[in-house]
Amino acid sequence: MQHGTRPGGIEVIAGVMFSGKSEELIRRVRRAVIARKRVQVFKSHLDARYAGLYTLSTHDGGTVEAEPVDCSEEIMGRRRPETEVVAVDEVHFRGLPFGPMPTLLAIAEIVDKLQAICVVCGDAASRNQRLVNGRPALWDSPTIMVGGRESYEARCRHCHRVPRHDEDQTALL
Ligand code: ADP
Ligand code: ZN
Repeated sequence: MQHGTRPGGIEVIAGVMFSGKSEELIRRVRRAVIARKRVQVFKSHLDARYAGLYTLSTHDGGTVEAEPVDCSEEIMGRRRPETEVVAVDEVHFRGLPFGPMPTLLAIAEIVDKLQAICVVCGDAASRNQRLVNGRPALWDSPTIMVGGRESYEARCRHCHRVPRHDEDQTALL
């Protein structure tokens, strides 16, 4: 983000799936529009869930318009000179700190980490439980798989399971 000749800043909204990251991003985008900022919203081209490829949506159905991109370089290419706020949904898809997240968390001015509700026990949830055929996914299952409730659950640290190959998956919730 650039305001005149002054450099802008980075805000990161982190947290488990269903913790309200998209809701919070949409809230900040709407507030920036109210503040008459020129805003561009980007999202991954992989993510066509809910309202479709050109819309940023929440699990609840809230939406704003967004431009799908393949990679972060494309964001720089599409950024209009007059744009003051750049919003990016889903910089990564899983609980492991891979991709740009560690760097973004380190250099951001503002970091908010949100929690969901654990679907097993009702406590605050900080983990994405990946399910394959309704069972906790093995630790080495492929990384990227876009999905909603059928593939991932929000769970607390206590209820989160990452079985090894020598564990009996059918015994795990
Ligand atoms: P995120 O972008 O973090 O995945 P969203 O903003 O898309 O989250 O969705 C948040 C909404 O999801 C909540 O306001 C709530 O209505 C709904 N929701 C569904 N399951 C859960 C859960 N286990 N915990 C909290 N909210 C949930
Ligand atoms: Zn729990």
